[in-house]
Amino acid sequence: MSFLVFSEDRELAFQLLGKARELADKMSSEVAALATGSDPQEYVCQGADRVYTLSGLDRFNVEPYGTAVVEAVKAAKPSTVFIGATKRGKELAPWVASSLGVGCMNECSGVELKDGKIVVERLTYGGSNVAEETSTSIPTVISFPPRCFEKLESVERSGKVVELEMNLPEPRVKVVERREKPKSKADLESASIIVSAGRGFKAKEDLRLLEEIAEIIGAQIGCTRPISADLGWMDQWVGISGKKVKPSLYVACGVSGTIQHVAGIRDSQIIVSINSDEGAGIHGISDYSIVGDVYEVLPALTKALSERA
Ligand SMILES: Cc1cc2nc3c(=O)[nH]c(=O)nc-3n(C[C@H](O)[C@H](O)[C@H](O)COP(=O)(O)OP(=O)(O)OC[C@H]3O[C@@H](n4cnc5c(N)ncnc54)[C@H](O)[C@@H]3O)c2cc1C
Repeated sequence: MSFLVFSEDRELAFQLLGKARELADKMSSEVAALATGSDPQEYVCQGADRVYTLSGLDRFNVEPYGTAVVEAVKAAKPSTVFIGATKRGKELAPWVASSLGVGCMNECSGVELKDGKIVVERLTYGGSNVAEETSTSIPTVISFPPRCFEKLESVERSGKVVELEMNLPEPRVKVVERREKPKSKADLESASIIVSAGRGFKAKEDLRLLEEIAEIIGAQIGCTRPISADLGWMDQWVGISGKKVKPSLYVACGVSGTIQHVAGIRDSQIIVSINSDEGAGIHGISDYSIVGDVYEVLPALTKALSERA
């Protein structure tokens, strides 16, 4: 059993390499990677035995990138292909699997070796359950979002860098225009503290209550989907269809705790909820619950914390 790792996001590629290396070591097998950018040797330091490089990979387009991964699969002959489930990777993984005529398990949250088989974990039923899945095809393509695994410490190792020689296809989809999206101030995926707003907030201006407490505790501000997608008060939300977060502290304010929201916060270390309804689902999954009105609790908390600070 051997591995090939690819992500156009180098940091994510290194995280996947860390996990592939751990599994390969258990089976005394090999890890290969398809590298992008300069310094392919760093992939070796991060756990790869063999690194494939290819010139001509420019801005992402699924056809040339997919063709490059397929070519790397043909060269490395792995039994398992790990792909980073970025927005692009989620399109790339099934493209590669279908080109190879093999199985694909997209957006998994974990992987282990069980009885000599690769078994993945995936959230199902809107995030309320975790399914264990395995594939019968060789190779199998599996994608993982960022931060499922830790990257290894970069150490000098011996490994081979091999240049793939091939002509990449002209993409059939042409980009006619690029417009920059306004950058969001919050980087929720890597935030270590998040305070989040739900429909318990009655007006956009009231979000200042969150901003005040966020400033004191050094938090990023998140929200539920209705606050963002329906009301347009913020540009990104937390949950199964939004950002999946992994902070050490998540404070849900006026959030009911539906499975779609909880699926995005389940990896938080500590969840605190503030909700006036004692029966709200969010209290059931919280480490600390405050049954109360956000308009009273947040100013009181902010005052107490600023006095301590
Ligand atoms: C396919 C699909 C995908 C979805 N994906 C997501 C997703 O990724 N993320 C997401 O968040 N949602 C998602 N949703 C929506 C989700 O189902 C819920 O509708 C949403 O999470 C509810 O948001 P909420 O908690 O802000 O609002 P509500 O469910 O209306 O809850 C508001 C809560 O605030 C409390 N409250 C009211 N006033 C106060 C007060 N003054 N003080 C304290 N508490 C108060 C109430 O008791 C209530 O519990 C998705 C839905 C679908 C169908």
